Amino acid sequence: MKVSENVKIINENIHRACERSGRTAEDVTMVAVTKYVTIERAEEAVEAGLFHLGENRDEGLISKWEVLQDKPQWHFIGSLQSRKVKNIIDKVSYIHSLDRLSLANEIHKRADKPVSCFVQVNVSGEGSKHGISPEEVKEFIGNLKEFFNIKVVGLMTMAPHTEDEPFLRSCFRQLKTIQEEIASLNLPYAPCTELSMGMSNDYMIAIEEGATFIRIGTALVGND
Ligand SMILES: *Cc1c(COP(=O)(O)O)cnc(C)c1O
Repeated sequence: MKVSENVKIINENIHRACERSGRTAEDVTMVAVTKYVTIERAEEAVEAGLFHLGENRDEGLISKWEVLQDKPQWHFIGSLQSRKVKNIIDKVSYIHSLDRLSLANEIHKRADKPVSCFVQVNVSGEGSKHGISPEEVKEFIGNLKEFFNIKVVGLMTMAPHTEDEPFLRSCFRQLKTIQEEIASLNLPYAPCTELSMGMSNDYMIAIEEGATFIRIGTALVGND
C-alpha cells in the first residue's frame, strides 16, 4: 500500500475516534514510526504529508536524518542509552522515553536548549516494558527541576499487546489521570499537557482516552 493511502484511512479513523469522544482531530499529532522501513519509504511518508517521524535507534535516526534533514520533526521513541544521547540530541524535537535521572542528566548536559521530553510510564506493570511505575512519576518529575534543559511536555506509555479492550482503556485512563495530576502542579518546567499513547493496534482507543500524540508504524508505513 502507498503511504498516502494508509494516511487517508488512518485520518478517517482518527476523525471518527475524535467524534466519538467529543475531541477535535487537530489535537492529535500522528508520529510516523519509520524504524522498520527504508529511507525511501520514510521519504514517501514525508511526501504524503507526514511531518513527524519516529525512530527508536540512533543509527536509524541518523541515517534518515542525513537524507531528510529537518523537513520532518524527529521523535526519539525507544529506550535510550545515555552514551547515545550526544548522537541524536541536536536532531530531535521530542524524546518520548525519559525514564531515569541519569538519562535526564545526560540530556541536560548535551543539549544547548530545552528539549521536549515525555516521561515514559510503565502503566501495565509488565516486566518487559521500560518506564517508571505510576507511583513514582510525581517524585521523578519533582527531581527533574534542576535539569533546566528538560521540558516535560507530557507522559508516554506503551500498552501491552492485547485485544483486551477494557484493559487497554484502563491503562490509557491511568496515564491520563497521572498526567492531569502533574499538570495541576503548574510546574514551569513540566507543563505536562500531552499524552503519547496509541500504536497501530490500539490508536483509536488511545484517542478516545485522550491521546494527543499517536505513534504508528505498521499500519502507516508497514513493517518490512
Ligand atoms: C515500534 C514502536 C511503535 C510503533 O509500533 P506499530 O505497532 O508498528 O505501530 C510505537 N511506539 C514505540 C515506542 C515503538 O517502539
